[in-house]
Amino acid sequence: MQSAHLTGMSQAELTDFAVTLTEPPFRARQLFSAIQHRRLLSFAEMTDLPQELRARLGEQAVISTLTLESRYLSSDGTRRYLFRTHDQLPAETVFIPEERRDTICFSSQSGCPLQCTFCLTAQLGLLRNLTAGEIVEQIIFARNDAYGAGVETPRGTNLVGMGAGEPFLNFEAVMKAIRIMAEPSGLYIVPNRVTVSTAGVVPRIRELATITDRPHLAVSLAASNDELRNELMPINKKWPLRELLSACRDFEKSLKPNERLTFEYVMLKSVNDTDEHARQLANLLNRYELHAKVNLIPHNPAEPLPYHPSSPDRVESFRRILESKGVHAFVRKPRGRDILAACGQLAARRAPRADIEPLAIASG
Ligand code: SF4
Repeated sequence: MQSAHLTGMSQAELTDFAVTLTEPPFRARQLFSAIQHRRLLSFAEMTDLPQELRARLGEQAVISTLTLESRYLSSDGTRRYLFRTHDQLPAETVFIPEERRDTICFSSQSGCPLQCTFCLTAQLGLLRNLTAGEIVEQIIFARNDAYGAGVETPRGTNLVGMGAGEPFLNFEAVMKAIRIMAEPSGLYIVPNRVTVSTAGVVPRIRELATITDRPHLAVSLAASNDELRNELMPINKKWPLRELLSACRDFEKSLKPNERLTFEYVMLKSVNDTDEHARQLANLLNRYELHAKVNLIPHNPAEPLPYHPSSPDRVESFRRILESKGVHAFVRKPRGRDILAACGQLAARRAPRADIEPLAIASG
């Protein structure tokens, strides 16, 4: 794709782009607002721009590069979008409506190079990193699908970088997208409303600790000792728990009052969910003087993954043990399981259930 992708440009970059078109800087502001605030995904809709300029823009630039392949609607209101990039690779996004806010879970990569054994995305391998523009587009599309282009959203939007991919292996693009989306004259989703999840890319955790205006951090643990974590999350062989938790401790020390570090712990029946695992996990976090809360996530089953979710009683017992040792733990309710939209289920698949047909929708 040769055309400039305007959705991934900051205001400064758009100003430079306007210069190449011999247009004044205010055109850049107009374009930024049209794309990021009014969420228009075609030049034709930008009727406040001269027709001649719109025609030139159409020749040299693009706004929308993702094509919607399928859209799935869960019985709990969650929506999953399966897109194709301009080079025909899958990208997935999940929209989760809640009473007081919406959450959009975006993907940072097409596929994922990490090999977490409980995650369907791992089976795709890495296809490629998504660009900042492709990340921003996912959010614009999801908001437009829920409320219509240009319509003020009734609730705040939280973003979570927990879709396909390891965000910290595509750090620059993810951080750039977060900066673009934070602009008050654009989407205006501030970093404080964004959480990025990592499987444990230690150097990037340390780098994030030095950045102001950063998203919240979630670290996926999935195991209470190295032996088990090596098996479930092979990235642990590169950055074992000792290094990961030291980095988390330093990150925690850098937190400002409104910032958060959380741990995610996927609950796999008879694999990592015993009372002994709970005690081991609590002792581990206490040893590193970590105060972050732990989110317990019942595994979301998906063929052909060899795991089953822990029973609610088991999860509760695990949670109680953590709490009894001073570790705050919460049980996360899975959303969108029936359309393969829940954590670890994104793998560019069509939903298996016959009663959830892809909704007919024009391409994005
Ligand atoms: S859990 Fe996350 S990091 Fe691990 S394979 Fe899946 S998408 Fe990649």
